[in-house]
Amino acid sequence: MLNDLVLVLNFGSSSLKFAILNPDTERKYVFGLVERLYLSYSFVTWYYQRFKYHTIIGNNISHIQSLEFIINHIFYINKKIVCNIQFIGHRVVHGGKKITESKIINSCIIQEIENNIIYAPLHNPINLLGIKSAIKYFPHLSKKNVAVFDTSFFRDMPETSYLYALPYSFYIKYGVRRYGAHGMSHYYVSKIASEILKIQFDTFNVITCHLGNGSSVSVIVNGICVDTSMGFTPMEGLVMGTRSGDLDPAIIFFMHMVLGMTIDEIQHILIKKSGILGLSGGVTSDFRYIEKNYYREIASKRSVDIFCHRLSKYIASYTTLLDGRLDAIIFTGGIGENSILVRQLTMIKLFMIGIRLDMQLNQCLQPGQYGFINKKDTTPVLVIPTNEELIIAQETVKCFR
Ligand code: ADP
Repeated sequence: MLNDLVLVLNFGSSSLKFAILNPDTERKYVFGLVERLYLSYSFVTWYYQRFKYHTIIGNNISHIQSLEFIINHIFYINKKIVCNIQFIGHRVVHGGKKITESKIINSCIIQEIENNIIYAPLHNPINLLGIKSAIKYFPHLSKKNVAVFDTSFFRDMPETSYLYALPYSFYIKYGVRRYGAHGMSHYYVSKIASEILKIQFDTFNVITCHLGNGSSVSVIVNGICVDTSMGFTPMEGLVMGTRSGDLDPAIIFFMHMVLGMTIDEIQHILIKKSGILGLSGGVTSDFRYIEKNYYREIASKRSVDIFCHRLSKYIASYTTLLDGRLDAIIFTGGIGENSILVRQLTMIKLFMIGIRLDMQLNQCLQPGQYGFINKKDTTPVLVIPTNEELIIAQETVKCFR
C-alpha cells in the first residue's frame, strides 16, 4: 500500500537517520543512516528492496549535505515512493515542561522547541535544523510536519522520580526536573516484549536498556514509565559515547575554580570529550573498537568495565520500584543489540537479583534479530532491535486522523 507514506527524519548530533514507511502495515520502503558527519569519510548505509547499499559521501559532510545526498541520490531512484509521502515525522529530543505529546509543526511549536534548547543543547538545535530543511526541500508538505518528542513517554513519572533535591522553587519557577530521553525506543521495545511474552501492557513490569551513542535505562511498571536514567538533559545517567553521565556536581566547581575553565569549556568537555571517548584516553567513542580490544588494551577494558558497572547499578536499583515482580529486562540500541560482551558483563553482575545468562544464546543471537538470552525458567532477558522510526510514523499520522 503506497498511500499515506511517512518520511521520518531523525537528525542526531553526529548522524542522520531516515526512513519512508507505511505506519499501518509497518513496511519500510527505504531507510538508512548517515554516519561520521563532520568527520573524514562521512558515509551512508541504506536499505532498499532487501538490498543493503553503502556509499562514502565525502569528508566533513554536514546534516544539510547528507539530506541533499539522500534526496538526490537515494530518493531519486525511488520516485514512485517519494511521490506518495503524505507526512513528515521528526524526532525531537526535548519537549520541555509544556509539550507532553506529538504536535503538528507550526511557528509556535518551532518557537517552543527553540525555547527548550537549554534542556538539550546538543540535540534540539539539530532537530530544528531537520524540521526547517524538510520544510525547505518538501514545500508542498510544509503543513504536514509533525514533531514527536522523546520526553513524552516520561510525562507520568511520579515526583519521587522527577524531582531533584533542590529548592522546590527551581522546579516551580524554572521547570528544573528530570525529563528523560529515548522515550520512543523504551516504549517500542517494551510494547514488543509484552506481545512476545503475552503479558498485557498495562500489567507489564520491565526494565529497558537503550544503549547507543546516548544511553539510558527505564523502569516501566504496569505499562507506565516510573523512572529513567536521563534527567534535566540527556547528560545524566549512564556512561555514553562522549557524555559523562552521572557526576558529582562539585567537579564542575573544581574545573571552574581550580582549573580556570570557562563554563563553555566545561560543557564541551562533559558533552563532547567524556564518556567512552574520555575513558579510552581520547582514542574513540565507537563501542565496536573498545569491544574488539577489550582483552588487548587496558583503556578499552577500563571503558567497557565502567560502562557495565554503571548500567548494572541502575538496573539493580530499579528493581526497588517494581512492586515485587520483574517480567523482563530488555537490551536495545546499537550496543544493546550488538555487544555480546556488554550483555554478558552486565548480566553476570545481576546474579544477586536472579538474572541468569545463557552464554550460548547470547553468543549466537544474530544482529537485527530479537531473542532471549536468559537461562530457561529464569527472568526473561530479551534483545529487541529498536524501531523509533515506526513510533514516529505512527504518532505522525495520529495527529491528522
Ligand atoms: P545513536 O542512535 O544513539 O546514535 P546507535 O543506537 O546507532 O546510536 O548506537 C551506536 C553505538 O553502537 C556506537 O557506539 C557503535 O559503536 C555501537 N555498535 C554498533 N554496532 C556494534 C557492534 N556490532 N558491536 C558493538 N557495538 C556496536
